[in-house]
Amino acid sequence: MNIHEYQAKEILQRYGVAVPRGKAAFSADEAEAVAKELGGDIFVVKAQIHAGGRGKGGGVKLAKSVQEVREIAEKMIGMNLVTHQTGPEGKKVRCVLVGEGINIARELYLGIVLDRSVSKLVIMASTEGGVEIEKVAAETPEKIFKEYVEPELGLQAFQARRIAFKLGLEGDQIKHATRFILALYRAFVDSDASLAEINPLVVTDRGEVVALDAKIGFDDNALYRHKDIQEMRDIHEEDPLEVKASEHNLNYIKLDGNVGCMVNGAGLAMATMDIIKLAGGMPANFLDVGGGANVETVRNGFEIILSDPNVKAVLVNIFGGIVRCDRVAKGIIEAAKTIDIKAPMVIRLEGTNAKEAAQLLKESGMNFEVADSLENAARTVVGLI
Ligand code: GDP
Ligand code: MN
Repeated sequence: MNIHEYQAKEILQRYGVAVPRGKAAFSADEAEAVAKELGGDIFVVKAQIHAGGRGKGGGVKLAKSVQEVREIAEKMIGMNLVTHQTGPEGKKVRCVLVGEGINIARELYLGIVLDRSVSKLVIMASTEGGVEIEKVAAETPEKIFKEYVEPELGLQAFQARRIAFKLGLEGDQIKHATRFILALYRAFVDSDASLAEINPLVVTDRGEVVALDAKIGFDDNALYRHKDIQEMRDIHEEDPLEVKASEHNLNYIKLDGNVGCMVNGAGLAMATMDIIKLAGGMPANFLDVGGGANVETVRNGFEIILSDPNVKAVLVNIFGGIVRCDRVAKGIIEAAKTIDIKAPMVIRLEGTNAKEAAQLLKESGMNFEVADSLENAARTVVGLI
C-alpha cells in the first residue's frame, strides 16, 4: 500500500526524522488557514497524488503570501495533474500539502529498499537528488552509494556516518544526516515498510538536513498490525475495478491488454496470461476467482472483466479439481443470463466432468466457443480479436 507525502511525513516525524513544517488541506479555505498558522514569508503548495514528477508537472508551487497560497490551492485542488508517472490520463488532485518554504543549498537522494537477492535492507544515497534516481542508476551508477544492513545488527551509526561523508556533508551537517538516516531506518522497520524514498533530501541554507519529499510503501501482508497506517489508505488512488474486486474477495489486477481472463488458481492464471501472449495477444487482467467458482463468483468476475472498456474478448480457463466442471459450466450459463456479455467468450474447462460441461455449454444456445485445450483456447480468443 502506498500513502501520500503528507502522511509519510507525519509518520517520519514521529520517529524524529526532520521534515519541514506543514499540513494537508482539502480546500482553499483550509490551505489559507494552514499558511496563517505556519507564518513566515515563503510557502510551498504541493499536490498530493500517489505519483512522482509533480514538480515538473506543475504540482509543486512556491508562494510568497497567505493570499498566494490560497490562489494556488484554489487552482490545484480539483485539477487533473499529469506527470511522467501518472500516464497521459493524469490524476485528480483532492488535497494539497501546505508547507513552510525551504531555502535549498543542496538536493540529495536517500532511499531504503529490500534487496531480495541478498535478503537485506539496503540504504541508497546519492548526491544527484531531485532527479529521477532510475536515470542516475542507468547512466551514472557510480554516483549511488549503498550500505547493506545486517538483519541481526540493524543499521549501525558508523554506516549512517559513512553515507553522510560520501554525500560530501561537513561539520554539523554530518551529525544531522546521521541522525536523519538512523531515524528513517527505525521508521522503516517499525512500520513494516517495503520502500522509503526521500527525493530530494535537502541541506538547507542553514545547514539543516530535511526531507523535502517523502514516499513510503508498505508490505500489505503486515498491515494488520498497523491500524493507523491502514487508515491512511486512499481508495481514490487505486484502480476502481481493483477496489470493487477486493470487495468481492476476487484477486484482480488490471493490465493494459484486451483479452479478459477468468481463471481459478493464481498459478493457472499466470500460465493463462503467458499462453495468451505466446498466441500473440495481450491479457487485459489477472483474475483468480479462487477454488469455488460458483454462480456468484463467476458473475462478479464477468462484471469486473467486462467493465474494462479495453476488453474485446474473454478467455475462461477453469480446472475442475475440487470443483466439478459441470457445476462451473452451469454457473457460467446462469451468470451469462443475468449480465449483458458483449464480448465473445472462449471457454476451456478441464478436469472432473469436463465432457459434461462442454455439452452443457454447447447446448446452452449461448455464444460460447468451447475449446478443447489451453493452446487452442488462447489461439481462438486471439483470433476473435
Ligand atoms: P516530485 O516532483 O513529485 O518528486 O515533488 P518534490 O516534493 O520532490 O518537489 C519537486 C521539486 O520542487 C524539488 O526537487 C525542489 O526543487 C522543489 N521544491 C519542493 N519544495 C520546495 C521548497 O520548499 N522550497 C524550494 N525552494 N523548492 C522546493
Ligand atoms: Mn520528489
